[in-house]
Order: sequence, then C-alpha cells, then structure tokens
Amino acid sequence: MKSKFLFLMAMIGVLSGFAPAQEHQNEILPRTIMEKIAGEVSGKIAFEHIRDLGIYSRWYGSDDMEKAADFIVDRAKLYGLSDVRKEQFPVDQDTYYWMQKPWLAWNCEMAELRILEPERRLIASYEANTTCVLVYSRDTDIEAEVVYVGKGVDPSDYEGKDLRGKIVLAYGNPWEVSKIAVFRFGAAGILSGPALDKPGLTSTTISQMRIKPWSEDGTQKSTFGFSLSVNQAKEMLKYLESGKKVLVQARVKAEVRSPGTHVGVTATIPGTDDPEEEIILTAHLDHPRPGAHDDNSGCATLLEVARSLNALIAQKAIAAPKRTIRFYWTPHVWGVHMLFSKYPELLKKTLAGINVDCVGLDQTKFSTRFSVVLPPYSRASWLSDVLENTLNYVSLANNAAKWGWRAYGPEIVDHDGSRNVFWGRSIPFTGYSDHVFFNSGDVGIPAVMLIDLPFGSHHSQNDELELLDPTQLKRISFLAAASAYTITAMGPEESLRLIDEVYHEGKIRLETEMKLAKSILYQSPKERMKKDYGAVENMIIHGFRREHQTLLSTRVFAKGNAEALNSIKRMETMIRKFEKECRADLLAFWQARAVKMGVSAISIRPEYTPEEQEMKGIVPKKAPELLGDFGSLNEYPVERYQLQSIMPDQPYYFELLSLMDGKRNMLEILRFVQAEALSVNYEPISFDQVREYLGLLKEAGIISY
Ligand SMILES: [Zn+2]
Repeated sequence: MKSKFLFLMAMIGVLSGFAPAQEHQNEILPRTIMEKIAGEVSGKIAFEHIRDLGIYSRWYGSDDMEKAADFIVDRAKLYGLSDVRKEQFPVDQDTYYWMQKPWLAWNCEMAELRILEPERRLIASYEANTTCVLVYSRDTDIEAEVVYVGKGVDPSDYEGKDLRGKIVLAYGNPWEVSKIAVFRFGAAGILSGPALDKPGLTSTTISQMRIKPWSEDGTQKSTFGFSLSVNQAKEMLKYLESGKKVLVQARVKAEVRSPGTHVGVTATIPGTDDPEEEIILTAHLDHPRPGAHDDNSGCATLLEVARSLNALIAQKAIAAPKRTIRFYWTPHVWGVHMLFSKYPELLKKTLAGINVDCVGLDQTKFSTRFSVVLPPYSRASWLSDVLENTLNYVSLANNAAKWGWRAYGPEIVDHDGSRNVFWGRSIPFTGYSDHVFFNSGDVGIPAVMLIDLPFGSHHSQNDELELLDPTQLKRISFLAAASAYTITAMGPEESLRLIDEVYHEGKIRLETEMKLAKSILYQSPKERMKKDYGAVENMIIHGFRREHQTLLSTRVFAKGNAEALNSIKRMETMIRKFEKECRADLLAFWQARAVKMGVSAISIRPEYTPEEQEMKGIVPKKAPELLGDFGSLNEYPVERYQLQSIMPDQPYYFELLSLMDGKRNMLEILRFVQAEALSVNYEPISFDQVREYLGLLKEAGIISY
C-alpha cells in the first residue's frame, strides 16, 4: 500500500513537472484581490463589536439607541469613513414615511416586578432582562392583586370579574389585552404570560412585546405591563388556582416619547470615477439586549466591511472603488423609507442593496444554513450573479480541501473561531427585513439579504453571543466586502467578465426551468395536461423575459464602451435564438406527450376565461406619494384601513403590488407572478384572493383603476 502510494506521488510529481496544472478560477474579481480582502477581514473584530453593542437595549428612540448610534459613529470615524452622519427621523402618532407608520419611540430606565404574597420574591428586573417590561409601559409604583382572565382579548373573558385597580394576567397578545383590560375595564396593568393554555409547555424565554400606548380615542394613556416567561406565568397561575391571593409590586420608570426621534447612522467610502453611483449596505441597529444575532451581527459585519476595505485602500493594497459604497445602520423596517424620503436623490443614485440581518451562527451549535436571499423576479439584475459568484468562492475556499479536492485559495478561518465546513446557499426572494423595501416596484433597487435560516430565539434575553462563531462572521464579512467591492470597482473593461457571468448563469436558470417544465408535464394527468402546458409555457416565456432584463441591466457598467455594449448585444441575440429553440422543443415535447396520452394537442391556448377577461380590463396604478411597501409590522394597513386580512408579507402579494405600475394590466401581472411562483415554488393564490386584495388596496387609496 505504502509503496503504491509513493509511486503515485512520484508520478504526480513527474506529471506536474511537464506543465503547471491550470487553476480553476471562476471569480469575477481577480483572485489576488479576493485573497487580499480575505486576509484583512477579521471575524474576531466583528465578534467583539457584537459584544460592545450587546450592552444596549435599543428600542426605537431610546437613550440606548442613541448610545449605540454614537458607538457606530465613533468606529466609522476611526476607520476613516467619509460623510459619517447620525441620521435623525422625527416620529409621533401621526408620522408616516411613505407607506409606513413607524412604531413610537420609548425609553425605559428601570422596571421591577415582585411577588409579595403568598411569598415574597423578585420576579423580573429590567437590569436582568430588558425584555421583561412591555414596550410603551409608563411610570408606575403600585402594589395590587393579580386576576387571571384567560386569553383576555375578548370582553367575555372579563365577565363577572372586578378589575379596577388590579393587575390582569392573560395569555393573549398584550397589545389586544391592554386595549380591553386597561382602557375598557380600568385594570392597573397587565402581566403577559404566554402559553397558559398549553399545559405541557415550559420555557424561560422572555419575549419583547408591546402594549397599546393610547386608547383608541386618544384620551387614555397606557399604564404598564410585564412580559413573563411560560414558567413564571404558570407559577403565578398555580397560586391563583389553589385559591391563594397573589399580591405583586410593580415599579417602572419609562416614557413613551411622542414626538420622539428614531436614529440611524450613514457613512461612505466615496467612489473615485462615478461617485454618483452607489451601492448601499444596511443592517438594523435596534432590538433588545443582547440581540447578538438579531442584528448586532449585521451591524458588526458592516463595520468590519468598512474597516477592512478602507484599510486596504489606505495602504494602497487595492484601488479605491470607482463607485461609492454607502453604509446605513438603520432603524428596522421603516429606516429605508425614512432615508429615501429625507434624501430622495439617493433613490436615483443607488444601484443595489445588501442587507445583513442575522449572520454568523456557529452551524454546529444551531441547526441552520447561511443564505443569500435573492431579489424577486420583478427586480432581476446582475446583483444575484455577483453574490452567487462570491458565495461560491467562499464555499470552495473553505471546503475544497475538506472534500478531498485541491485546496482552493486560503481557507477563510478566524484565529479565534471554528474550522467548520461552510454551508451556504442562495435562495429565492423571501423573508421579512429591510431588503424588501428596496425591492418594491416604485423604489426599484434590487437588494439581497444575508441571513442564517432558520434562526434562533430572537427578541428575547436568549439571543446571546455564545451561539456565534468568529470564523463564520469572517466569512460573511468577506462575502459582503468582496461583493460590494466587485460591484463598485467595476469599470467598462471589467464589465466584460460580468456580462459573461450573467449570460451563462442565465442560461443555467433557463435550462433548470425547461427541465422543470418537462418534469411537470411528465407527471401531469390527462385531464390537467392542457392547463399544465399553459402554466409551464407561461413560466418559460417569463423566464426569458427575466434573463433579457438581467442581461440588459449590465449596461450600467459598460458606460459606452463599444466592446462591452457589443458583447451585450451579441448575447441578447444568442438568448433570442435560445428562446426559439426552447419554445419549439417544449411544443414538440408537448405534442408527442399529448399523442401518447390521447389528448388533442390542437388549440392548446384556450380562450380567455371570464376571470382572465376581468383581470385584463384592470390596469392598477399605485398612488405616487405612497412609495415602498407596507411590511407586516406596519400600522398603515391595519389601523388606517383595516387591511388586517392581507398582511402582504408573502412574496406573491409583494410582487403583485410591485408590478402595479399603471401600465401592466392585471392579467399580465398575474401571469408574471404565476410564472415566478411556479419556478420558485411559492404558495399560489386564487382569483378570489387577488380580487379581494385589489378591492382592499383600492378602498385604501393605495391604488386606483
Ligand atoms: Zn433582524
């Protein structure tokens, strides 16, 4: 065995003596630059910044949020970033930013809950777990009896109970409980105890939740409330059920700030040649202490991208980018709307967004996989291909040697982190974070999200640093930095490589859809074959439109360079030719299949159904002042227009609204979204749902037709 092995080694030596083996190089950026960035990025620095930010409990408009913003400002200045600014956005009960109504500012200094009878004990303290006090609680110092009301979201839960001046224990959503218990029945405050209706469940998790800051008519102010863990709540219920009087003491020092101020931080690495063209990296700065994963990890990643790129630029190891890289530590959800309404000129300047929200989990401690969430099909562009190309490098650099292949560049491993295999993938548009709002139709900026999916226990005291891995943080910081640099350093000459990338990756996407189309028809029963053919043909037609759009999107980099523009033209022609071939192939496949199944292949395109006719006649247009999207945390649709039933955070609903541009009719929009849903495997929606959605949007004044 040993001699054979030596012989083999000798042979390899001889063979490699003939000619140096060609390197497998698939990157858009030159490998030398990739390696320089990987060499500079530090996962441990990001890890320590997560610790630094973890001392603040950052509700919107709180003192801690200000301190966290100041910390980011200090670092950004230390790292030599330009235009470092603390952004302030006023918010009160009537403030809207486009389609979004931000949650109100609130600050808490202290909160304590003690049980006094039947035994004396400190139960909750803001200093121990900042999530223990319900958001929008106000100053309180009382002793009162606890009354259990079950779910507590319906007046019938309160029948026959005297609540005035007492504290209600309920397992319903505290926002709803507070409306009835406090504003209607005059309870002093509430204790929110989850899962009191689920006997077997135990948990010490204390989740951040809110009570309603004012009564519906605005005349009564909120009082206070505490968020209990399942275990704490069950203990209290046990006392009550055994007939004991439960007396508690609640002390709170907190204020609802309306008017208040939401803060964020912006900074840039200015571009040299085209500073007016920008990309933006975002991470949300708010969330309760410790918030290690959600989203200190994103905030720290942005700092590390900024530090490492600027260090390499300052030391002339890499050239300064041609375009501007903007960093935005944002108030979550409405921050994108706030920034663009304050600086509308940024809308035109911004080419793409990279949102980093919840990254760096040690994948051996928590079962998850790192994911790049791609933009929806309505925002198809070169951005996906840049991110996927860089992601592929991270995967090969870290895993190739572990898989028994030739090592592929230096492993991206932090001195203080794990040596884990890297698990990463790109997935179709999904999720609920700030990437959504860039992608909406009238904002129109393609944006990706970097995220660990699934993620752990967020918005509670359990989102701790110990689940994070400096190596994983290093890899994600590298991915964000290298992708941002690829985009912003690209001149017309380098764009040739990107155009090739986009064309070939597009063909792979189209081939995948062709294979799916045939697979669906292979399994299609006789009675559904015609319908299924219509659906897969629609998917293929829209697939080609998408790739056409993607290819044309690269023109922004060609900048009038004849060679690059010709290359785009040549590939457009090739895509057209490919489309003809695919459509002919699909038709021939269908006809052969139809004959075999005894279905008439003639008249495969049926007349419009009455429903399709109806949709064809509707050309919806969104109100121009209501830019962006609702988002499901938003009170805009709920409070103003009672649109509760259609919280549009599903990709399907998002795309429908995004495509309502006053030009497309509803049938075109539907077919677009049906093609995307089939390709990606989204949940489809019925005509009835679409009709209801349209009706509600129209009634709300969001669209007209
Ligand atoms: Zn988050």
